[in-house]
Amino acid sequence: MSTAAISPTRAEDFPEWYQQVVRAADLAENSEVRGCMVIKPWGYGLWENMQKQLDIKFKATGHQNAYFPLLIPLSYLEKEAQHAEGFATECAVVTHHRLEAVKQADGTVKMIPTGELAEPFVIRPTSETIIGAAFARWVESYRDLPLLINQWANVMRWEMRPRLFLRTAEFLWQEGHTAHETAEEAIAEAALMHDVYEDFMRNHLAIPVIPGEKSERERFPGALNTLTVEAMVQDRKAIQAGTSHFLGQNFSKAANIEFLGRDNQRHFAWTTSWGVSTRMIGTLIMTHGDDDGVILPPRISPTQIVILPVTPKPDSREAVIDACDALAKTLRTIQYMGEPLRVHVDKRDMAGGAKNWDWIKKGVPLRVEIGPRDITNRSVAVARRDKGPKEKEFIGKEEFIRRADDILDEIQSVLLQRATALRDSNTKKIDNEADFRAFFGTSGDNESKGEISGGFALVNWAGTSEDEERLQKELKVTIRCIPKGDQYAEEGACFLTGKPSHRRVIFAKSY
Ligand code: AMP
Repeated sequence: MSTAAISPTRAEDFPEWYQQVVRAADLAENSEVRGCMVIKPWGYGLWENMQKQLDIKFKATGHQNAYFPLLIPLSYLEKEAQHAEGFATECAVVTHHRLEAVKQADGTVKMIPTGELAEPFVIRPTSETIIGAAFARWVESYRDLPLLINQWANVMRWEMRPRLFLRTAEFLWQEGHTAHETAEEAIAEAALMHDVYEDFMRNHLAIPVIPGEKSERERFPGALNTLTVEAMVQDRKAIQAGTSHFLGQNFSKAANIEFLGRDNQRHFAWTTSWGVSTRMIGTLIMTHGDDDGVILPPRISPTQIVILPVTPKPDSREAVIDACDALAKTLRTIQYMGEPLRVHVDKRDMAGGAKNWDWIKKGVPLRVEIGPRDITNRSVAVARRDKGPKEKEFIGKEEFIRRADDILDEIQSVLLQRATALRDSNTKKIDNEADFRAFFGTSGDNESKGEISGGFALVNWAGTSEDEERLQKELKVTIRCIPKGDQYAEEGACFLTGKPSHRRVIFAKSY
């Protein structure tokens, strides 16, 4: 029998392990509204840190935050045909603006929508169209460009197969929207934000995402090009963790974002959009978690160090609590990533073992125990979440205070190394169809049992969109990205069609 805290284990049933880990760590829960979740404080704390750290990067690259309406007039969506078609099946529509309370015979009340709107509204699935309308008002001349705006918001996409954090009907995200004078500038902007995402995920979330381009078939509806960062999680599936789109002039023509150019002629602006969402939290859990629960990278963890008072006898309780508070106070004077260390003293009245496991499951990077004997010895017992649940090291208190930030950095880099090793050992160059099929299993239908199969297949590709569709139907695999970088440029024959190909692309199953 397994002694792990989470049942089932990752190997037994990965999707179910994920549900159980989210619950055990008290991150979020399903709500009574289908596809919509309640994000609990430990999960929301993660999101707040992601927001804070990304926001700094957005501002450092010249962007400003603004806010636009939740409701989009239906006619706005109709202006860009591809966009409209792409989102048509996922939209929640507001058709009425009031309710009539009708008293029933039994004394209860029924609420009947009345006051039908002349033009329905769509709850934003994304805001290109309504932000485009604002940009059209704001931009007159080339002097108004570039316009670099970001919005932190919720959006709604009526997802048929929701999964906590990874795919929800309502989710939290940021959406950057920018307008530029030239195509080159817009292309550079989309690439810049793609780099920002890659850097953030690697260096803050310890997720070694692979940056690349989407194939035409996987592009954002209405985009000329979509850049993506793809993560591999522990069942070897891919997760699209963030996207950055070059929209050409499609949306500026739809919304009439025109400007008077340096040549005194009128031109349509070139636009981009880019977004990351609460999906990053799911990706983080699936990347780093183990059979005892979540493991959080120190840079993003809501609490980096939890101090657990060990109080076997009532008469020493006060001294132990004081020692814990004093240590927390000192640790909070240490700056880590430009902010005071996030330290919590857990004074709840519960058994020490259960309390310890609670924090293991929540994935806090460092647990520090202080008991009466530690006070005498001027030491602390330190347990790292990247090591086994029973491992702890006794360190002199002063030494721990000196080394705390280094230990956190070590944990951060161990997590990145582990995730990189998993990714690399499950990424395989494949050169023919038989090997490709064997890699993914002949039937793609292993979803429900969470069977682990395949990984990232690096193949030379020269197929069509129809070929891609066929592979998706048969094997449930898609082109995750055409990865960036010289190491993927390789002359060869397409593994499927035999046609000449100049690059390898990544195929994988995905969430
Ligand atoms: P998009 O506007 O479609 O490019 O989406 C931007 C990013 O939001 C994607 O790269 C995903 O990481 C994330 N995302 C898309 N759909 C969902 C969803 N239903 N739930 C959570 N995150 C999502």
